[in-house]
Amino acid sequence: AREIRLASRPSGWPTDENFAFADVELPSPGAGELLVRNTFMSVDPYMRGRMNDVKSYTPPYELGKALEGGAVGEVVESGVDGVAPGDLVLHGLGWRSHALVSEYTALTPIAGVSPSHFLGALGMPALTAYVGLLDIAEFKQGDTVFVSGAAGAVGSLAGQFARLKGAGRVIGSAGSADKVAHLTNKLGFDAAFNYRDGDVRELLADAAPDGIEVYFDNVGGDHLEAAIAALNTNGRVAVCGSISMYNEKEPPPGPHNMHLLVGKRLKLQGFIILDHYDRFRAMAEEVGQWLATGKLVAEETFADGLDNAPAAFLGMLRGENTGKMVVRL
Ligand code: NDP
Repeated sequence: AREIRLASRPSGWPTDENFAFADVELPSPGAGELLVRNTFMSVDPYMRGRMNDVKSYTPPYELGKALEGGAVGEVVESGVDGVAPGDLVLHGLGWRSHALVSEYTALTPIAGVSPSHFLGALGMPALTAYVGLLDIAEFKQGDTVFVSGAAGAVGSLAGQFARLKGAGRVIGSAGSADKVAHLTNKLGFDAAFNYRDGDVRELLADAAPDGIEVYFDNVGGDHLEAAIAALNTNGRVAVCGSISMYNEKEPPPGPHNMHLLVGKRLKLQGFIILDHYDRFRAMAEEVGQWLATGKLVAEETFADGLDNAPAAFLGMLRGENTGKMVVRL
């Protein structure tokens, strides 16, 4: 089996030198274990945080050890009654060709749906979009919703969920003209802008002349400041992530207009999706319906081969993905 290890901790943007490849022998599975051949692995922004040696909601990756992350695979050899070779499982030991797993979720294949969606539109990113929009931002029908990082895995789902749940208007921001066109032409956003085209505050004000009720924040920084300016009274913000800061050595100063929270009675709330798996079934049922009826577009960007996983991860951080970035193994 081949695995990718953390060779050194990045400072600022990661580089190829931070990753090392190794070949290892895996034993046959013991009782309660499965030997799995990974078929798809996820690359996600939170992995950048785990490369730092800092205390967080998940422990840092260990130097010299294989990286971890969501993966879908096929059972090769089973030490579990009721699980047979060929069965499909979801587990947390990505970044390797094969894994010996004891913690996993058995997956039921869905006709016509690629199993890679269990890492995206039917997995953690979908739950993040669902909980962030409905529970944290307390979305209500008729709300005007602004989503940043809107062409990515979480953002593209959050915006479409808002549309499908009866938003007044859905506005998205992304980092290229092609992505902006994708949002309005394919995903049904009412308006979108490229945040590289100018001052985010002005771009958002133009796209949302009547203001917004909900902001789904994937980016932080200037986007959060722009949203605070655009939010109407009693507006709500789901603080999901701050990707504009993950690779900065010195975080840029925060929003300069926090005083507006008072007069506008705004609510900003952060959340960690690991706390909300009680909502998984509700999400999967609703999203499964939308997918099956063609109401939801679940875009994916694929990289091929384990050797290309570091490049896929770096590419995702740079914005090379539309929808979920997945490595096909
Ligand atoms: P994405 O699929 O959205 O990929 C990351 C995207 O971030 C890139 O495609 C890029 O798109 C954008 N980006 C990169 N740098 C910047 C920048 N400086 N300013 C604005 N956009 C930038 O990733 P996910 O959907 O997996 O994650 C989205 C967010 O959700 C992240 O902040 C992540 O940390 C967070 N998250 C939080 C969870 C939680 O539990 N709270 C769980 C899962 C995700 P572009 O071309 O548009 O720049």
